Amino acid sequence: MKREKGSVAIIGGGINGMFCAYYLLKLGYKVTVIDRNRKGLTSRNNAGLLQPSLAPAPEMSYTDIIKASTVGLGPVYISPRQIAKNVPWFVDALKNRKSKEDHFLIYLGQRSLELYSQFFEKEGVDADVIKGVATLFKERDDAKAFADLHDARFISKEKIHKLGYRNFGGGAMFDRELSINPMKLFDGVKTLIKSMGAQMLLGHGARFNIRGAEISSVQVGKTRINADNYLAASGSWLNELLKNLDYNPMIIPARGMVFLFSTGDRRIVSVPSLIEPEGIAIAQHSDNLLRATSFFEFKGIDGEFDYKRRRWMLDAVKEHISKFSSMRVIYSGYGFRPCTPDQVPVIGRVPGYSNLFIAGGQCRSGVTLAPLTGKIISSLIEGKKPSIKHLEKMSPKRFVG
Ligand SMILES: Cc1cc2nc3c(=O)[nH]c(=O)nc-3n(C[C@H](O)[C@H](O)[C@H](O)COP(=O)(O)OP(=O)(O)OC[C@H]3O[C@@H](n4cnc5c(N)ncnc54)[C@H](O)[C@@H]3O)c2cc1C
Repeated sequence: MKREKGSVAIIGGGINGMFCAYYLLKLGYKVTVIDRNRKGLTSRNNAGLLQPSLAPAPEMSYTDIIKASTVGLGPVYISPRQIAKNVPWFVDALKNRKSKEDHFLIYLGQRSLELYSQFFEKEGVDADVIKGVATLFKERDDAKAFADLHDARFISKEKIHKLGYRNFGGGAMFDRELSINPMKLFDGVKTLIKSMGAQMLLGHGARFNIRGAEISSVQVGKTRINADNYLAASGSWLNELLKNLDYNPMIIPARGMVFLFSTGDRRIVSVPSLIEPEGIAIAQHSDNLLRATSFFEFKGIDGEFDYKRRRWMLDAVKEHISKFSSMRVIYSGYGFRPCTPDQVPVIGRVPGYSNLFIAGGQCRSGVTLAPLTGKIISSLIEGKKPSIKHLEKMSPKRFVG
């Protein structure tokens, strides 16, 4: 294909970096994606729920926060050391714990879902898409209130039992929201952008070289990669990547565990769901593969999960899946959600640099928001105004000064 638009070098080949590459390639840009990880991490190890209604993080009281930093087991864990290391982040997060931006986040998710439909239809990437996702509650009244709030369909205890789950009082069914197999999506998008001409430099850490108020190149070992524009899409490592540029996007990692189970060629659950009390997501994407993921742990970039926490999670899965005895763990891994303190992504031009953009901070909705992120970044690099309401809310400038 003839390239007329110039070139873009992207540091970070997670799902957001790759969707940015996809839309840029479609516009005719020459794109290089650099990632130090060959196989992908967070963008493969996640729940794969494309669920705009879950974009806002649940509200936490002060008591919840104290409990989360003292008790090691539960949906949320906050290590006191992380609080000490990131005081401004936690102060900001406390101020924003009743997020004013819930509607905005849901709007972004819905716009991105429209792009996913077009993407799957046009590109034929097979990610085992399932339509319809449930959120399940212990108490019937909580489920009813949640369903009413989000215009979802209430489902009864009996119905939930038929879907393969147990010990719930009720649920909210989101018929239009999706679940995908994140590993298949990630691998599919990667293969697609390669076939569209993206250069992929995997297994190499990179940094930006600066010349005055612009980026002059990307340094990968001894090699320099020159481009017209640059994109920082390094997920939970964005603070670190942009440190020498004197810009802090205020992103810290909220890690989560992933278990894959073989199910002995049986469909064990028929609808993907978020188990609300424990914050565990469950999805079965094929006759022999079920995924379970855990919620937020603020422990920094740390891949060690102690035995107690793994046990806690497996016990919770056991409590809520009727045919747990047919399941066998075949994989365990983890990922790091890149979270801002106000829960809003950071998308736009990096303050102080004319040719550097950032796409990050999508936190628990990074897969959901990836196509929209790519669409916005490609428009901005092209010098066009993205057709999105309140783009300024995601401005990287909000963390300056
Ligand atoms: C357990 C769990 C469940 C989740 N469930 C969902 C869900 O159901 N729905 C949803 O929408 N989202 C979910 N998420 C969130 C989602 O996975 C993330 O928001 C998303 O994957 C972030 O993508 P990214 O491309 O921004 O970052 P990443 O996937 O983290 O990619 C960043 C990449 O940058 C690379 N990198 C970093 N620094 C450098 C460097 N200096 N040089 C070169 N490369 C570098 C890293 O190796 C990494 O591959 C979940 C996350 C977790 C952990």
